[in-house]
Amino acid sequence: MANTIGKSIFKELQKKLTPMNFWKTKTLNEMTSDEWESLCDNCGKCCLVKLEDEDTEEIYFTNVVCDLIVLDNCRCSRYLERCTLVPECLDLKQEANFKDYTWLPKTCAYRLLADGKPLPSWHPLITNDSDSVHEAGVSIRSYAVKESEIGDDDLQNYIIDWQEKFI
Ligand code: SF4
Ligand code: SF4
Repeated sequence: MANTIGKSIFKELQKKLTPMNFWKTKTLNEMTSDEWESLCDNCGKCCLVKLEDEDTEEIYFTNVVCDLIVLDNCRCSRYLERCTLVPECLDLKQEANFKDYTWLPKTCAYRLLADGKPLPSWHPLITNDSDSVHEAGVSIRSYAVKESEIGDDDLQNYIIDWQEKFI
């Protein structure tokens, strides 16, 4: 009897918890579009300008960011029109194979889940606080420079190393 009660309580609990923990129970492809969008922690790292070495195809991140970002919250100011306004802006598709996006920052929720890893403790879905990504120092808010503030020829001087002071 104790076991039966235990199981039924557990099932009720599971019913309540599952919708809140969809990232643990669904694959990226199975998520609703709202769930999919909520995975983005708004770190802003994918909006940083990247340089590619033509010989090795290695990607280098800079701390220069697209002008359309709002640095207070690291959100795109023209999200719905982003790909028209900024042709280089990559529209991450739900059906994409994220294992191919090796350049995505290692903290990116899409990359973590695609690699079978858990969301980090500072992720807004865990903390229920959209500022937690900034408070944890994971977003670009404290170090990004807008594209319009630097000269095109200077980009190489802004290359960053994620292993050093940037998370
Ligand atoms: S790197 Fe990932 S989590 Fe961060 S803003 Fe881009 S899509 Fe969102
Ligand atoms: S258009 Fe918006 S989403 Fe795209 S790189 Fe610029 S700020 Fe980021």
